[in-house]
Amino acid sequence: KALLDRIEQHDEKINSFITVTRDEALEAAEAADAARARGDAGALTGAPIALKDIFCTKDVLTTCASHMLDNFVSPYDATVVERLKAAGTVSLGKTNMDEFAMGSSNENSFFGPVHNPWNLDHVPGGSSGGSAAAIAAGFVPAAMGTDTGGSIRQPASFCGITGLKPTYGRVSRYGIIAYASSLDQAGPMAHTAEDCALLMNVIAGHDQRDSTCVNQDVPDYTAELDKPLKGLRIGLPVEYFGEGLDAGVEKVVREAIRTYEALGATVVEVSLPHTRLAIPTYYVIAPAEASSNLSRYDGVRFGHRCDDPKDLIDMYLRSRAEGFGEEVKRRILMGTHTLSEGFYDAYYRKAQRVRRLIRQDFIDAFEKVDVLMGPAAPTPAFGIGQQSDPIQMYLGDIYTIAINLAGIPGISVPVGFTDGLPVGLQILGPHFGESRLLNTAHVFQ
Ligand code: GLN
Repeated sequence: KALLDRIEQHDEKINSFITVTRDEALEAAEAADAARARGDAGALTGAPIALKDIFCTKDVLTTCASHMLDNFVSPYDATVVERLKAAGTVSLGKTNMDEFAMGSSNENSFFGPVHNPWNLDHVPGGSSGGSAAAIAAGFVPAAMGTDTGGSIRQPASFCGITGLKPTYGRVSRYGIIAYASSLDQAGPMAHTAEDCALLMNVIAGHDQRDSTCVNQDVPDYTAELDKPLKGLRIGLPVEYFGEGLDAGVEKVVREAIRTYEALGATVVEVSLPHTRLAIPTYYVIAPAEASSNLSRYDGVRFGHRCDDPKDLIDMYLRSRAEGFGEEVKRRILMGTHTLSEGFYDAYYRKAQRVRRLIRQDFIDAFEKVDVLMGPAAPTPAFGIGQQSDPIQMYLGDIYTIAINLAGIPGISVPVGFTDGLPVGLQILGPHFGESRLLNTAHVFQ
């Protein structure tokens, strides 16, 4: 109740929620209290959380921050939502985001930008900016995000919280509105690695309804949090400390890495030689998949339909023209172009080949080191309206998107401030190495 009141009082300034589900939350909280009274409580019984508005929630609006879906009420829960409910968590509502998860600043939302609680003139990052800001503002201790190219880690960095993108296939995508299906992955956002571990224990694991969800045992992610880090081999990719990295961010990140050396870890430089190809590769593959995924919004089965269509084609054209925002249209155009006959081999197929090389860079690096460390983003949170050129915006994804192309897990953990704004340290590990990442991040609790 206290958190719901706090949201009501202060979210006008932050805009982190699209929908607050007060009544449902109070009801679920009562059920949690009853379970506790019966002696039937788990680690997360009654824990208040929030869900990025990309997760389908039964009987609750799911907009993906788009005019296209601003009247869409899902008839079912995403697997992640189902599992969080079963664990007794209490969702307070659905958080703001970049439309269809396309963006790095939360300025692409149909419901307006989110303001960074550390400085209201700055962005919270994106696309899971509402979830990150809601945690930083003290509205909820934890929230769910999704990460296709950095959308959990970069807003976590900008808002001074912890965010984990699991290995592709670790968490079910069923019921999560698709952006780029071969890259999308849901993950926890919270103040600490420990809270992320508790959420991972609930959301990870096989789901028959997502064929890319891996059937592999789920460890207790809290078990190794306190494992000593003596002897940990840390690699610093030279490409992640080069041109374009803000000096203040670099200083904070390097200081954090010295903390690990003091704990007995060893630090070596490594190279991920295909790093410079990650942005062009991602911005071919992700829009290609998006153009295909978003073709379902035709005004017939979902969401927005234009008024008085003349005929079928008119209905498609106007419904989509009215329903999608500018960035989403840009991605659909890029994706349709690179998938079209005559361009497919030159762009899409080539990008898939380069993706393989990027993945191999990480596999080679993890032969020599246990984890990789670097910044999550080249700068701290920038000002709202400051980054108007889409290409400049895409370049800011340099340290996060290769991780999705490779399918490996990554975590951003808050390690300090520059100019009064938070800075995240990004820690990367091999496929299914989440326990080690949480263990490493747990130092900064
Ligand atoms: N900023 C990237 C993009 O715009 C990543 C977004 C995401 O991870 N969903 O595509």
